[in-house]
Amino acid sequence: MRDLAALPKAHLHVHLESTIRPGTLRELGEANGVAVPAEPPQFDGFRAFADYNALIRACLQHPEDFERIAREYCEDELAQGTRYAEVTFTAASHGERLGDLEMPLESVLKGLSGLETRLLLDHSRRRPVDRAERTLDLALKYDEVFAIGMAGEENHSLRPFATVFDRARAAGLHLLHHTGEDAGPDSIREALEVGRTERLGHGIRVLDDPSLVAEVRERGLALEVCPSSNVTLGLVPSLPEHPLPRLVGAGLTVTLNTDVPSVTGANLAEEYARVRDAFGYDDTAMADFARASVTASFAPESTKQRMLRDIDAWLTPAAGG
Ligand SMILES: [Zn+2]
Repeated sequence: MRDLAALPKAHLHVHLESTIRPGTLRELGEANGVAVPAEPPQFDGFRAFADYNALIRACLQHPEDFERIAREYCEDELAQGTRYAEVTFTAASHGERLGDLEMPLESVLKGLSGLETRLLLDHSRRRPVDRAERTLDLALKYDEVFAIGMAGEENHSLRPFATVFDRARAAGLHLLHHTGEDAGPDSIREALEVGRTERLGHGIRVLDDPSLVAEVRERGLALEVCPSSNVTLGLVPSLPEHPLPRLVGAGLTVTLNTDVPSVTGANLAEEYARVRDAFGYDDTAMADFARASVTASFAPESTKQRMLRDIDAWLTPAAGG
């Protein structure tokens, strides 16, 4: 079996605020007067997870805090063979909280270095439409931002945000929403029709409706599957019971992602390793996941071609081997 940290990978679904090293979070908590538990708590659903995210946000106050987590994020990704990442950041929420809309995003952009990255600004479905407008305004100001997307509890409809999506599309931004994570096919249809999503963020519940599976397959829409996150957040009972093999078997384009690595304890290379161990995939299958991550990305064509070549090289037997 080949080293999965050496396999070139694109990371398409990861929240910057959930990548913070445990030691860094403790230090930021101490500096900013927030009591950080030694370990992330056990989550019994989205609410408990949202509470933990509030604690993480409270640890992020100053420009150097944001710059540091972005810099360390890049270092950690490079160490596990990530060559390109589309990173999600809830910029407007931090900006409103701290009374300076641009500072958190500008600080993150300063910290991102060494790894080819593009930023997606997300917005919670629970939050007001006018904040979504501010997220979009922010996204349009910075070339490094390529997309906006909706996250959070899917029982909140995307319909109130339709005008935001129209404006984003008209301005050339991509739309990438969380959907089909905890809610079923109706939510995915809404993300396609109202949200105009260009991939399914999670999307695992697509399997509830064979006609939707066929539509997603025919349209070539990739799924950003995050197996460890689904288990940690209680959406899937255990990794061996994860629907990943059924998604692959249905002919869908499946990418592997971490979503919230500091909470699951799995970085991207570890996520690949857990999947290989749980389902017995061989190196060819793991290379296929990596290829899918590249082709489903919005990376420049030159980056895609170089990464696909390097994935082939990873699979090629060494001379004399
Ligand atoms: Zn997510």
